[in-house]
Amino acid sequence: MNDSTNLMIEAIKDQKEIFGDNLFESVNLKIENNLVHNIVKEESNFYMSSNSLFENFSSCTTLDSLNETINECQKCALGKSRTKFVFGVGNPNADVMIIGEAPGAEEDKQGIPFVGRAGKLLTDILKAINFDREDVYIANILKCRPPDNRNPLPAEMDECTPYLYKQIDIIKPKVILCVGLVAATSFLKKKESLTKLRGNVYEVNGVKTMVTYHPAALLRNPNWKRGCWEDVQKFKKIYESLTN
Ligand code: SF4
Repeated sequence: MNDSTNLMIEAIKDQKEIFGDNLFESVNLKIENNLVHNIVKEESNFYMSSNSLFENFSSCTTLDSLNETINECQKCALGKSRTKFVFGVGNPNADVMIIGEAPGAEEDKQGIPFVGRAGKLLTDILKAINFDREDVYIANILKCRPPDNRNPLPAEMDECTPYLYKQIDIIKPKVILCVGLVAATSFLKKKESLTKLRGNVYEVNGVKTMVTYHPAALLRNPNWKRGCWEDVQKFKKIYESLTN
């Protein structure tokens, strides 16, 4: 995919951050139909290499054992194209969890979520509400990078989110912040725009959950930073109400 196509997709994704999927349904369909075509081609290999090892992750009681059990996962086609599996990073006893969408190019290279410019901005946002990055736990909906910066496909998220739920089950955070529309709609199972999701407090399996912009989108749209600031201020207050 060339640079101008990438730029166009990023611009569409930014608009979706605000307006949600509805306005862009026809664009989505065109883009994702192509991607589905690629995935379907790869899936025959995936099913041949799949085995039952990965069904055993539900009995894991620590993050390390979970990581060891799942880090060679091939449940979806992204297992074949990834460079590194991106499990998650941070304090295993964190009260705060940050959930993003999926690894990007740099994360795929390093095996760590939220590195590079977007990662630095996330660290700065956390600092602004008095959290060190090391205090929180950061993970993504998907553990492997979707190629060409495309959004995760529903089937990929269905395969991968049980791993995230297991991480949450082990960490037992008090509050969760979803960054970006894809993470939010997937985690909350709500097909709404970011505008509608932001500012609300949801409860997912008893854990208070809020939504804000993805740092990568903030880098491209600095005028959204004010809204993010308001979101994280509210998020911090909820955290304090649960921990003080
Ligand atoms: S994205 Fe998730 S389900 Fe797909 S191969 Fe990677 S770890 Fe497995």
